[in-house]
Amino acid sequence: MLLELSHVAAAYGPVQVIEDVSLTVPEGGAVGILGANGAGKTTTLRAISGTVRVPRGSIQFEGRDIRGKRPEEVAALGIAHVPEGRGTLGNLTVQENLRVGAYLRKDRAGIESDIAFIRELFPHLARRYASNGSALSGGEQQMLAIGRAFMARPKLLVLDEPSLGLAPSTARDVYAAISRLRTETGISMLVVEQNANLAFSVVESAVVLETGRSVLSGATAELRGNDEIRRAYLGG
Ligand code: ATP
Repeated sequence: MLLELSHVAAAYGPVQVIEDVSLTVPEGGAVGILGANGAGKTTTLRAISGTVRVPRGSIQFEGRDIRGKRPEEVAALGIAHVPEGRGTLGNLTVQENLRVGAYLRKDRAGIESDIAFIRELFPHLARRYASNGSALSGGEQQMLAIGRAFMARPKLLVLDEPSLGLAPSTARDVYAAISRLRTETGISMLVVEQNANLAFSVVESAVVLETGRSVLSGATAELRGNDEIRRAYLGG
């Protein structure tokens, strides 16, 4: 397994918001995390990237225990996290944001060809290449955040609700690009999404969280056939 969470609990100060979350991402796989508002999806991602306290459970990445590691150590091991709200650098241009994403890399030729790939993948971004991040639309900022994270060439790309706040057609464009990124590079992904239809266009399996617990997991085809899942996350 690339990533394995076993019975993880997570807390903000004294307030424990995740009780018992288990999930796995296979090498080369793409896995979704579904759940209602407040179920603990974002906190699960924060537990992985080291930005929230994890009092119980184990988090293994490539067989190594990463629980309690600092965010920069987790990133250096090959996990790139695109947070909800994106976190692109507003006072840097699109080009500068992409280069910041590659700051740990030394392979100049690889960096240039990855930038060309991102420009081709996100034509909107290519057109705004010299614009400041703060001048971009919400959809463009999401694309930039994904592009920047990819520029680190992580082993695992962690995406927190890439569709949040976007118009439906923009959300579909963003997911079409995520899907291409995945099929053309084979990069592993862990994707939090409330809109299961969008998530299922990319992931092969998903885990469902309810009030801080993982209650169900399975292949997307299996989950699509589950009445409860259809009603709660697939719009009937
Ligand atoms: P959403 O889709 O709304 O982001 P989520 O499933 O990602 O939902 P989380 O953001 O992980 O849920 O939140 C889980 C619980 O933790 C919620 O009850 C939330 O109020 C609480 N919570 C989130 N951030 C903090 C914080 N910084 N301090 C204390 N409690 C928090």
